[in-house]
Amino acid sequence: MPEEAIDYRKVTGLVHSTESFGSVDGPGVRFVVFMQGCMMRCQYCHNPDTWALTNDKASERTAEDVLNEALRYRGFWGNKGGITVSGGEATLQMDFLIALFTLAKEKGIHTTLDTCALTFRNTPAYLEKYDKLMAVTDLVLLDIKEINPEQHKVVTGHSNKTILACARYLSDIGKPVWIRHVLVPDLTDRDEDLVKLGEFVKTLKNVERFEILPYHTMGEFKWRELGIPYPLEGVKPPTAERVKNAKELMHTETYDDYLKRIGN
Ligand code: SF4
Repeated sequence: MPEEAIDYRKVTGLVHSTESFGSVDGPGVRFVVFMQGCMMRCQYCHNPDTWALTNDKASERTAEDVLNEALRYRGFWGNKGGITVSGGEATLQMDFLIALFTLAKEKGIHTTLDTCALTFRNTPAYLEKYDKLMAVTDLVLLDIKEINPEQHKVVTGHSNKTILACARYLSDIGKPVWIRHVLVPDLTDRDEDLVKLGEFVKTLKNVERFEILPYHTMGEFKWRELGIPYPLEGVKPPTAERVKNAKELMHTETYDDYLKRIGN
């Protein structure tokens, strides 16, 4: 369809749910849209109910309808807040994202994409669409779940190749990002990997924030409700000491220093 023929108001997406007053999904107070569908299988996922690509409980909604719902809360956003689209993995429904964010930008609303970036492809066809999305996206929240490719497969079931490629691409185009790392005892709290993650992030030119999200068990009940065995049964949130250690390693230590410290 020619571009000018698209009526963005009518583009639909499968929406799992919305949250009126999100406070951790970008700057300020935000209206958060959780999209249905995700290909990752993170061991610590607190939204396993968003995994399925179809779900009777999710709703097929137009971009206009979602925007109108968001606008009811505009008075609470102040200078910083706005709309965040999360998931699931939002980029599985790129047309809807482009539509919603285009309509939002027409109204001067700050837009944030929360993505795991698994679907990212450095190909002309993919980038043509991705660039359209980035043109109407103010901020990307990108989780790097593990820098070590093998451990990334253990944590999520997938390689991190496309995710790191996405991080590099966003740096190249100068799109502001917040990089986040969920710290799970043993699983993603490995000193060597934290140092390497810190080194990788230091090579990016667009990082506004680089933060640790300590693992929590709040999503565990959903696994139980879905009848899926919870892989982190009995794992406790990281101690304050381990969170401090991770912050220090990610932000200050180089990999060479790390090797010297451990005597290699
Ligand atoms: S990418 Fe997000 S929604 Fe998907 S499995 Fe991981 S934590 Fe869950």
